[in-house]
Amino acid sequence: MRYIGTHANHPFASASEAVLLGMVPRGGLFVPETIPVLDADTLAQPSYLETARRIMAPYFSDFAPDVLDACLHRAYNETNFETPDIVDLQPLGRRRFLLNLWHGPTAAFKDIALQLMPELTATAKRLTGDKTHTLILVATSGDTGKAALEGYKNAPGISIVVFYPHGGVSEVQRLQMATTDGSNTKVFAVRGNFDDCQTGVKALFMDSALRDYLAGNAIKLSTGNSINWGRLAPQIVYYVRAYGLLQARGEIRPGEEVDICVPTGNFGNILAAWYARAMGLPVRRLFCASNKNNILTDFFQTGVYDTHREFHRTSSPSMDILISSNLERFLFEVTGRDAERIKAWFTERFRKGVFEVDAETKAAMDALIVPGWADEPRVFAEIKKVYEETGLVIDTHTAVASAVSRDRGPADGPAVIIVSTASAFKFGSDVLAAITGRAEPDEFAAIERLSEIAGRPPHRAVRGLKERPVLHDKVLTISQMREAVIGFADGLSGRA
Ligand SMILES: *Cc1c(COP(=O)(O)O)cnc(C)c1O
Repeated sequence: MRYIGTHANHPFASASEAVLLGMVPRGGLFVPETIPVLDADTLAQPSYLETARRIMAPYFSDFAPDVLDACLHRAYNETNFETPDIVDLQPLGRRRFLLNLWHGPTAAFKDIALQLMPELTATAKRLTGDKTHTLILVATSGDTGKAALEGYKNAPGISIVVFYPHGGVSEVQRLQMATTDGSNTKVFAVRGNFDDCQTGVKALFMDSALRDYLAGNAIKLSTGNSINWGRLAPQIVYYVRAYGLLQARGEIRPGEEVDICVPTGNFGNILAAWYARAMGLPVRRLFCASNKNNILTDFFQTGVYDTHREFHRTSSPSMDILISSNLERFLFEVTGRDAERIKAWFTERFRKGVFEVDAETKAAMDALIVPGWADEPRVFAEIKKVYEETGLVIDTHTAVASAVSRDRGPADGPAVIIVSTASAFKFGSDVLAAITGRAEPDEFAAIERLSEIAGRPPHRAVRGLKERPVLHDKVLTISQMREAVIGFADGLSGRA
């Protein structure tokens, strides 16, 4: 498989090159040149690993089959995940299914890609003969940061720096990141929101003086954010797996269409569902569920992407995003890969903060995406409703999707897969307040109470968190991000 850039300004890249570069150096994102076609066999695989092997192989054709296999085995096993099946599917009422993606080490769906990414990165370096030290920069709205830190922690030849919005993540998310050990990790809070962190990281990537300085110390930058194709490909797997499980359980007939409802922020997870559909998975519509930061709802309804709006802090902080990076890949595909239009729109968004798609593109989007959003009262009511109806305790992000999926109307449409992106224990005080109607300001007391209500022990990602020493407590301004990276890199020199 070769990879092309969404601005058509880069020669063909191998999967290894696309993973190591992270984004196209002169702007734009890597996408696969062609989209492989699923066969019926892939849907009927006995294990997650087998499904993953089949989906990933064509995208990573520069990896020998046994090499890719070794990567998958090191990522998807019972040490890293609570369940040998990696993901699980629970009924949530009639024709509604919850796809639980949070059995990994940090209790968020991002573990599924980020447990594999370091393996992909290390292999890509070997295959391309890259002997430099890889410095992974990550901007996080809360969950990517810890998942990336756990993935890359102590990986040889790789270090990682994470930037998160100061005061913009949950207490558990903050502690998870701030207590990370490992010789190769650094975490900074930034005065700003997630978009500031993400824009800051993108600016560092485009900074040729910084690139040259680091190259002088044999260090190369890469990214663990979902702008990296290596983050997206592993996410296609669980959609195919979920469909296969529904079919195996007799919930759907072979070939029957399903809907998928995804709580969306940076548009990575839902884009992976789009790729699964493009590969031939029978999916009718993708429901793009947003929280109060409903810029995507407005965009899909009007065709205008307008970032001039208030930024809201919500109980689903991992979706508190106004600039959804992976929308660029989606628009590249729905315009029939029109790099000129993509470049024009995203240049406009960068310069003026707004762009509008043409009528033809709008119609193509309408045929695929159903947008919807839930405000805070609706999210809390949904958590309570799901608990009362099914006894299941869902987190705030999942609740956004569960609420929006009800917009589909009476339950006689296709089965719907509702993507559950985090364990409720990660957002314990909000979930507890939603169910009991009473606030518990002490996050760890809330987790204990929630454990009693849910009838299961807290996710291991939050157990013992309170006792762990805080190792990272620096707060930066946006303009200090560059200096911080240089400082960390200087400390690395000589041990690549
Ligand atoms: C990251 C995240 C999301 C949003 O996923 P995107 O791929 O950024 O759209 C939703 N829920 C949780 C819990 C997350 O961590």
